[in-house]
Amino acid sequence: MTVPIPEAAIATIIAAGRRLDDAGWVPATAGNISVSLPDGRIAITRSGRHKGALVAGDVMAVDGDGRPEVQGDRPSYETLLHCGIYRRFRDAGAVVHGHSIANTVLSRAAGGSLTLAGYELLKAFPGGPTHDVSVAVPVLDNDQDIPRLQRALDARWAGADTIPPGYLIRGHGAYLWGPDMDAALARMEALEFMLACELEERRLR
Ligand SMILES: [Zn+2]
Repeated sequence: MTVPIPEAAIATIIAAGRRLDDAGWVPATAGNISVSLPDGRIAITRSGRHKGALVAGDVMAVDGDGRPEVQGDRPSYETLLHCGIYRRFRDAGAVVHGHSIANTVLSRAAGGSLTLAGYELLKAFPGGPTHDVSVAVPVLDNDQDIPRLQRALDARWAGADTIPPGYLIRGHGAYLWGPDMDAALARMEALEFMLACELEERRLR
């Protein structure tokens, strides 16, 4: 007997998928979305579904280690990255991942991190009460070996003084999280706005 996923969690994920799709950040079957459930399970999008047209059946449950609750169910290929965030950041309640043009182009051109400085919207990131800060967003090399990619992230987080609630994977996309879906989406919108500005600025140079 499996415990049903709360309807509110499913509705939250479906609405988030539409919002990411409206913004153009989840082309084809890109992106994935999850929320942590009070019982420790994670509700996450199934592999291969379009995030702008999710239905209730496209959301499934995994345990904290990414194992599907129902054997044979196939969660998002990058499920272990969601688990890695929930494991490391106990206050994380929702995780969103998208592939935008700005995050793809800029992460390809970046080194080990991408610094955003002087933007009003840095306020959307915790620990940045004013615009007068800079945030170094980690950029990880893309890797189809997801456990190895998570180990690289864990190593990066272990050595960091402050950890922004997001990171970029080179040529691939962005991960953002927050205490709930609204916060995770707000942070993603803030990050994507700043990345779009960076891209425009580089065109002007
Ligand atoms: Zn991806």
